[in-house]
Amino acid sequence: MSRLLTGQVICGINNIYSVKTPEGGFSCRIKGKVLKTEKKYYNPIAVGDMVDLEADPHTPATGWIVGRRERRTLFSRYNKKRKASQVIAANADLLIGIGSAASPPFRPRFLDRLLVSAASGGLEPLLVINKCDLGLNKDAAVRLEDYRRLGYRVLETSALEGKGIAALEEMIVGRLAVFAGQSGVGKSTLLNLIDPELRLKVGQISQKYNRGAHTTNFAVLVRTQKGLTCIDTPGVREFEIDAISPEELPHYFPELTRLAPSCAYTSCLHRDEPGCAVLEALKAGKIHPDRYESYLRIQDTLRQLEKEFYGRPFA
Ligand code: GDP
Ligand code: ZN
Repeated sequence: MSRLLTGQVICGINNIYSVKTPEGGFSCRIKGKVLKTEKKYYNPIAVGDMVDLEADPHTPATGWIVGRRERRTLFSRYNKKRKASQVIAANADLLIGIGSAASPPFRPRFLDRLLVSAASGGLEPLLVINKCDLGLNKDAAVRLEDYRRLGYRVLETSALEGKGIAALEEMIVGRLAVFAGQSGVGKSTLLNLIDPELRLKVGQISQKYNRGAHTTNFAVLVRTQKGLTCIDTPGVREFEIDAISPEELPHYFPELTRLAPSCAYTSCLHRDEPGCAVLEALKAGKIHPDRYESYLRIQDTLRQLEKEFYGRPFA
């Protein structure tokens, strides 16, 4: 009889998962076909998952994953390269979308997609705009005000000047936070400032499990001495929404949700329908045109995905 243990996946690469259990770390493969029944996601197990494992009686610290517990939250994306949906992280509390004021330029469309993803996956969103020492241009400042008006939390930071770091740390204490940001926005620098151990551990885990692999794009869960936990997602430079239908999308834009009851059609998609309250508000300048543009683009992408997934609809 082999022993059964429960633990949390902290890293997974090339079908080998590192699982932290009360008895220490285990290196595991998935046993047989237990988890192969899921069709929507190509990866059955993700960082943050709580799994049941069978310890290998012959080799210390190794085992087989025999089951996965239900996920509390889900951060997923459509992986363009693999033409399939991918779970990036499970069971996280907070999705921190990092952007920069400049260099690389402020890219609200990426942040808009993360906000939709957080809402659909059950995570609380937090927007962090780093490099504020470089100055926010007027358009960016207006967008940040708009986010705040919509009820999102926005933190302006400068890793260079140490601004906003304490506030960021305060936000993540006691919670499992996923960090996502496009390359160069200063994510690594921020993590390092919050707790140098975060950066160090991400590096160590990556090195340990990345031997011989072709990719460094995988998420890693770290827990520091201070008790901070976070999931770093180096691979999320390209981010496409998945797992929701084009018709559901308005629910994830608070400014549309509020107005939808006033539209003439109950199933209004706010594109060209007569009597659409959203289009009226847009004309009257009550909805930021850039947010509306984000909405249209995401919806077009979702339509496209639905076509590709024909016969395997989302939901
Ligand atoms: P990552 O790719 O998001 O992990 O970005 P890095 O942390 O590697 O930072 C990218 C570059 O931006 C580095 O040269 C950093 O020194 C710089 N950087 C990071 N944070 C700031 C900041 O707040 N202000 C300025 N001006 N530069 C920063
Ligand atoms: Zn409408």
